[in-house]
Amino acid sequence: MTSPTSPTSPTSPFAELDAADPLAHHRDAYVGAETPLVYFDGNSLGRPLRATAARMAAFVEQEWGGRLIRGWDESWFELPLTVGDRLAQVALGAPAGTVAVGDSTTVLLYKLLRAGVALRPGRREVVVDTDNFPTDRYVAEGVARELGLELRWVETDPTTGITPEQVAAVLGPQTAVVLLSHVAYRSAWIADVAGITALAHEAGAVVLWDLSHSAGSVPVELEAWDVDLATGCTYKYLGGGPGAPAYGYVAERHLAALEQPITGWMGHADPFLMGPGHTPDPGIRRLLSGTPPILGMQPLVHALELLGEVGIAAVREKSVALTTFAVELADQLLAPHGVALASPREAGRRGGHVTLTHPAMREVTARLWRRDVIPDYRDPHGLRLGLAPLSTSFAEVEAGLHAVAEVLAEVTV
Ligand SMILES: *Cc1c(COP(=O)(O)O)cnc(C)c1O
Repeated sequence: MTSPTSPTSPTSPFAELDAADPLAHHRDAYVGAETPLVYFDGNSLGRPLRATAARMAAFVEQEWGGRLIRGWDESWFELPLTVGDRLAQVALGAPAGTVAVGDSTTVLLYKLLRAGVALRPGRREVVVDTDNFPTDRYVAEGVARELGLELRWVETDPTTGITPEQVAAVLGPQTAVVLLSHVAYRSAWIADVAGITALAHEAGAVVLWDLSHSAGSVPVELEAWDVDLATGCTYKYLGGGPGAPAYGYVAERHLAALEQPITGWMGHADPFLMGPGHTPDPGIRRLLSGTPPILGMQPLVHALELLGEVGIAAVREKSVALTTFAVELADQLLAPHGVALASPREAGRRGGHVTLTHPAMREVTARLWRRDVIPDYRDPHGLRLGLAPLSTSFAEVEAGLHAVAEVLAEVTV
């Protein structure tokens, strides 16, 4: 993986790392790979594949323009489920028939949290953590207000993340749902999904995992981990594009009883019957509400082909090498300026991004953007480097961290 240079070595081995990288050639498949721009935000919005532009045009001309309304009968009606099956297979470790694509993560969090609470009638508590992504916390607060539930907050350290011990301490006979993220959006801490899920089950609760920062970069095994419910976005490591639809997972054992609150016609057992009353589809289609975003799924379909071809194990291997390299460079170039690592040092506990903290990072980020080095900023004082394994090179990491060191020197004189 990484070469055995000492951390004080003045020259970095990026050329060797790129030459030895079996995924290096995939970078050329992405728009912008030929420019010197350094992209460290592949965990917020992945780069587009070059092939997507032509395929979107062909979709407009042939499928939309050529098939017109017939497209619904021919493939679009099933697309939320066929794309869901593909996603389940290549990125989620889930069986066919358990994943549907549509809505945003926020809307699916709402639908699945309500559904999870309904699976545990009489229980009044939802476990959440203080460092989950804002939308997860806000949706939990809204559902708690709506249903008169109590939130049991776990205080998580923003430089590490949630542990099974912390969850065990708040579980009880009133716990209906445990809502947490697999990979923490700030620190990249990888939660022990299987361990926490088992504890929740022992307490009689169900789990709802947010996979937004893990799917497409860290292996996910929803079935093996016995997860009840999950959701996540597709525009981060999955490369679906801005505003691409999210996905929802429901374990097979819960499908028949799952009640989600937005009972629209597209989740009906027979949408075109158009009869009185809502009879939910017996399968995962019941998670759908209205007309699914077919146009918005197209780039995702292309990106999943590539991910399926490469395989998540190879993606994770490169991801670990990229973040390890970034941590080594940060130790060499930035630690002397007072920069601290706010992500796990142990690669096995760290997802696909690295957060570095320093009081000047907000200003550093603004200056980096002006020189075409694009990380993002997360309070408190965090510079976040999202390293998308299929489109990021080691040379890019090297160039970017040198730029951070230069800008930091400018702003701290
Ligand atoms: C990015 C992200 C979201 C995004 O939700 P949207 O509805 O797509 O805006 C939700 N949860 C987590 C953990 C995220 O990282």
